Amino acid sequence: MELSCCWHKEQIIADECPYIGGNEQELLYNRKKRFVARCLECPRFLSDLKAMRSESDGLANLFPYVIEEFQALRVEHHTQAGLIESRNREIKFLHEVSLVLQTSVDMDEVIAMALTAVTAGKGFGLNRAILLLVDKERQNLKGYFALGPRRREEAGPIWREIEQRDLTLREMAQNFFESKMAAERERFDDLLELLSVPLSSDDHLFVRTLNAQTSAHITDLQNTGNIDQPQAKALGVNEMILVPLISKNRRIGLLLADNIVNHHPITTEDLHSLETFALPVSFAIERAALYERLQEELKKLTDANRRLKEQQEQILRMEKMALVGKLASNIAHSIRNPLTIIGGFARSLLKATPAEDAKHQYIESIIRESRKLEEVLEEVLNYAESLHPTFDLWDLNQLVTNVCAAFQDDFGLSGIDCELKLASGLPLVRIDFKKMAYCLRNMLNNAMEALPRGGRVTLTTQRSGDQVLLTLADDGPGMSPETLQEATTPFFTTKEKGSGLGLSLCSRILEGQGARLQIQSQEGRGTCFTVSLDVP
Ligand code: ADP
Ligand code: MG
Repeated sequence: MELSCCWHKEQIIADECPYIGGNEQELLYNRKKRFVARCLECPRFLSDLKAMRSESDGLANLFPYVIEEFQALRVEHHTQAGLIESRNREIKFLHEVSLVLQTSVDMDEVIAMALTAVTAGKGFGLNRAILLLVDKERQNLKGYFALGPRRREEAGPIWREIEQRDLTLREMAQNFFESKMAAERERFDDLLELLSVPLSSDDHLFVRTLNAQTSAHITDLQNTGNIDQPQAKALGVNEMILVPLISKNRRIGLLLADNIVNHHPITTEDLHSLETFALPVSFAIERAALYERLQEELKKLTDANRRLKEQQEQILRMEKMALVGKLASNIAHSIRNPLTIIGGFARSLLKATPAEDAKHQYIESIIRESRKLEEVLEEVLNYAESLHPTFDLWDLNQLVTNVCAAFQDDFGLSGIDCELKLASGLPLVRIDFKKMAYCLRNMLNNAMEALPRGGRVTLTTQRSGDQVLLTLADDGPGMSPETLQEATTPFFTTKEKGSGLGLSLCSRILEGQGARLQIQSQEGRGTCFTVSLDVP
């Protein structure tokens, strides 16, 4: 019998069998291996077998059954090996993933890990993963993060580069989390927005899968009725798996995965693996979310504590100030009378003293200095009084007009041009008229002192939303940034004979009236004070 296959030869040369590749030298001289690996499926061998069967009815007739059985077992073996391989991969995953999941309480890190595992070749190797999370406050299933190409054309080498560097899954996730997460989030922003669904849409594919707590394998997404058309279109695939993330019966979110690039069919194995994988991921996400909330609460508590401490300090300060105020007021009251008497006698003396008398200028000095003392006293008294205001409803325009009228003469002497721009129909404001007038006088005094050679002072009243604003602007020399910073500090002054109490007192009084004092000033440009009062 003429044999066409080389199965019966102990050794062959390369050209004898066309089915042996250049790198399979061993098969050339190892007959047993060659027979099992090649001959059993070789068409030449099968034709030899056929010829042998027609010549005898011995073993050659039974051999085909053996081959058939052998091949079936071989296929079975392959499937099993594949299964073991995928189980192995799964276990390795779960181990690596659980390491991160156990140690991380950072939501983004957990998610980076989970989606890396789904999309990296070393992981489940799906092309794309999208995570939707339940937003309890807004009652919706919100697109949170996605990983993979956006469109088919974008099949970019997302993992290739990293995989070439032979990193572990954990390192890949870390890498991704640290360098790419923000950019990826931005890239998918509109898709994620589009995929959000209200939890009340029971019929929607996403919500339904989540509520059913079992995963779904969709093979004709574009024709599925229960997903919005634009959503299906934006996803751009027909086949997709949806795995609900559930932790102790609480709905955490939904994981979508597909093979948008290579269109490999998604296997039941893939689905089962992802289902197993979804469990620790759900736990970790929930834990991270809880941790986040805990951090927020902690921050609120710390803030509240800090505010409480500040308030306590403020109260303490106010008590001290009240004490100082009382002391100052007592002293001021006891000095005021003797001072008035000194001033009065000095004025009588001056009248009775001829101008050419040498004593004349001394007496003048006494009068001038005692007047200054009286002014300081008034400030001190006002300061003490500022602690106990009496309120009423007043027309701010009237206050401005009254106070300015008293300044007309002084303005005239100093060459200051005073302009009033008063808005009509202003609502009344709740203020202590006397104290507010004092504040305004104080600011006008400062303006006058800032304009020794004349200039312009503009007073404006206007309404702005729920507030009435009073502004006082001068075109004097302005303040340096340092002076501006310190202007309302008690006893801060840049003037040789200043008390440094004016603005400190003003801001204190205004604060007590629920008003706000704002100072804008630029060197060489002038200064503008703005008082804002709430409309009652
Ligand atoms: P005093 O007038 O006694 O110096 P104030 O508290 O009234 O104290 O003012 C503090 C400082 O703020 C002043 O010394 C001055 O440097 C600055 N200042 C206040 N008003 C003006 C203004 N209109 N223009 C320029 N500087 C001003
Ligand atoms: Mg002053």
